[in-house]
Amino acid sequence: MKKFCLAVHGGAGALLPSDFTPEEEERYKIELKQALDHGYNILKENGSALDAVEACVKYLEDCPLFNAGRGSVYNFDGKHEMDASIMCGATLKAGAVALVRRVKNPVALARLVMERSDYVFLCGEGAEQFAEFYNIEMADETYFDTPLRLAQWMKLKGTDIAQLDHTSISKSDVHTDNQKENSKFGTVGAVALDLQGNLAAATSTGGMTNKRFGRIGDSPIIGAGTYANNQTCAVSCTGHGEYFIRSVAAYDVSALMSYKNLSISEACMEVINNISNLNGKGGLIAVDKNGNVAMHFNCGGMFRGMKDSDGKSEVFIF
Ligand code: ASP
Repeated sequence: MKKFCLAVHGGAGALLPSDFTPEEEERYKIELKQALDHGYNILKENGSALDAVEACVKYLEDCPLFNAGRGSVYNFDGKHEMDASIMCGATLKAGAVALVRRVKNPVALARLVMERSDYVFLCGEGAEQFAEFYNIEMADETYFDTPLRLAQWMKLKGTDIAQLDHTSISKSDVHTDNQKENSKFGTVGAVALDLQGNLAAATSTGGMTNKRFGRIGDSPIIGAGTYANNQTCAVSCTGHGEYFIRSVAAYDVSALMSYKNLSISEACMEVINNISNLNGKGGLIAVDKNGNVAMHFNCGGMFRGMKDSDGKSEVFIF
C-alpha cells in the first residue's frame, strides 16, 4: 500500500530538560504537532510533498517560539536577516533566499523563486524586489521582533564578538561565555513523502544571533541545509551552519545512500559523525523514498516530530 509521511524540526542545540518548565516543553510539543497536522492534512488529501513542507515551515515561521520568520534572532545591527530554501525531489528544482528582512514567510518566497524565476538563489534587496513584484506578503521589520530573541541579543550586544572572532583566544572566550546561548539553534524545517512517491524538503531560519557582515548559514544552501531527490531522500538540517556547509551535509546523506547503498538512518548517522569530527553541532531530519524517517543530532536535543499514514505520530525534544 502506498504510504505518505513527514517530519519537522524546530532546531537543535545544547538543550537540557532543566531549561524548560513542563508547560514550556508542552508548548513546544504542541506547536510541532500543529505543524505536522498542517502537512499531514495536505498529504492525506493526496496533496504534494512540496505543499506539505511549505505549509509546515510556514506554520513554524509564524510561531514566535522558533528562530525563523516571526521569532528570528537579531543580527549584530539589531536587525533580522532571514534565510530559507525548498527543494522538489521529483524535478530537482530548488529555490532559496537569503538575508531578507521584510518577507513574512521566507519559505514562500523560496518556493516562488523556484517556480517563477530562472534562478535558484536570490539574496537581500534583490530578493525583496522579487517578492514585491509577485505581491508576496511583506511585513514591517518590527513584526519579527520578540522579547525572547531581544533578550538573547542583549546578552551578546556590546561584547564585541565580531572583533573577537578574528582571534582564536577571543573566539574561545566568546564561546565559553555564551556557550549556551550560541549553541541553541532554532531553525525550522520539514521533509515529506507524498502518495505519488515524491519527496520534498524545506528549511527556514533567522540564522545565528549577532551574526554580521552578511553572514549566510547552511539553511538556504541547497545541498548543505536542504536537499531532496526522489531516488534517495529529502533532508533538512539545523545547527552550526558553517559545519553543515563544509560537510555539504544534506547532499551527503543522499550521496551516501546512492553510492554506498546505506539506509537513511546509516547515512544520517555518518553525516552527523563527520560533523562531530569537525567539532560541529546540530542535527537533521530525513525521509527516504519508502517513507522511513531518520532524525539524528549530536547535541543535547532537537525539537522534532514525525507523522505518517500508518498512524504513527510522535514529537520529541531530547
Ligand atoms: N543552521 C542555521 C544557521 O547556521 C542555524 C540553526 O540551525 O538554527 O544559520
